[in-house]
Amino acid sequence: MNPSQNKDENIKSENTNSEFFQKRMNKFIASVPEYVPGKSTAQIVSEYGLDPKKIIKLNSNENPLGPSKKVQKSIQKNAKAASLYPIADASDLRTELSKHTGLPKEKIMAAGPGMDSIIDGMNKLFAGPGDEVIVPVPTFTYYGISASAGGANPIYVGRKSDYSIDLDKIKEAITPKTKIIYVCTPNNPTGNIVTAADVEELAQLGCILFLDEAYVEFSDFPSLLPLVEKYENIVVGRTFSKAFGLAGMRIGYAAAPAWIIQKLLSVIPPFSVSTISEIAAIAALSDSKHLQKSIKTAKEGRQFLQEEIASKTPYKSYPSNGNFIIVDVSPKNSKEAVDFLLKKGIIVRSCDSFDNIGKNTIRITIGTRKMNQKVIDALKQFQ
Ligand SMILES: *Cc1c(COP(=O)(O)O)cnc(C)c1O
Repeated sequence: MNPSQNKDENIKSENTNSEFFQKRMNKFIASVPEYVPGKSTAQIVSEYGLDPKKIIKLNSNENPLGPSKKVQKSIQKNAKAASLYPIADASDLRTELSKHTGLPKEKIMAAGPGMDSIIDGMNKLFAGPGDEVIVPVPTFTYYGISASAGGANPIYVGRKSDYSIDLDKIKEAITPKTKIIYVCTPNNPTGNIVTAADVEELAQLGCILFLDEAYVEFSDFPSLLPLVEKYENIVVGRTFSKAFGLAGMRIGYAAAPAWIIQKLLSVIPPFSVSTISEIAAIAALSDSKHLQKSIKTAKEGRQFLQEEIASKTPYKSYPSNGNFIIVDVSPKNSKEAVDFLLKKGIIVRSCDSFDNIGKNTIRITIGTRKMNQKVIDALKQFQ
């Protein structure tokens, strides 16, 4: 072995252990909190030894009716297109979304995977290292995770006891470093909305305002989407994952002033919506019957669950504008409730991974009438 080779080997052995490289990780990533997702049916089946056919999955706010038949047919028919790149900006889908929302095409974009990629894009665009984003909690946790990964600091501001946002606290939290205020409406996991008046007040605070309307189709209140034509700093995020029943296809979209859309498209990876996903989304938009049926199922189901929980269980549910409700199971804790329901084959979500909601709250996705009845039967026995 010649000397130079020997030297190389030494360098290699010192530098190939994982500690060496872990120290070289982007320092912001080391402190990123973990996203706690709802478990899949397969995970639950193996952990609890349950019959997969009997499982009712109500932990991730998926559409209990599944995707529209038109979507399924169009995915099958277009399977061969899987070998082709889509158009980089999902132009055909943008055209359809422009019709769907009534906004001009330059104020609409689609992106994947899911609306999560739009949240990443927002943070990339506005919230650099040392900047701050405001997150009223409890709420969807990915805003803070995504901001931290880019070196920004999420500032978590508590909501009021009815989970409405606290405008005074938000205003107090704003500093010259604040770049984005994240507001989810209807809010996940609590189900309440933010009023248009509050939103217009938030829009005057000199920050970008991101309105997450993942559940807006289920709301009894109108969408805030038209505000993107009135303000230069409002961005509305939407998704095909919930009302359209396409969670597995991972398609989100955003409405915003044209200059923001243009910048977002430049920071999100090109071709982020897959060829088949774009085809599926366009088919979903063409099936308004399925959409309406999904909305009706959620609205009727949540009323049913709320009335039954109030009259037949000792627990308290909160009003909701989403396809889910939260239930306070005090004096029991949420883990006990989740476990009890799991043994009956019903998967719901404990809210203890959300900030500022405590240890006694579960979130239940609204199912079909049959599923909802099973939830009530099980909750009645949970005493
Ligand atoms: C489900 C959800 C999203 C994101 O969904 P994608 O599947 O990534 O489009 C965004 N915000 C909230 C509040 C959600 O519940």
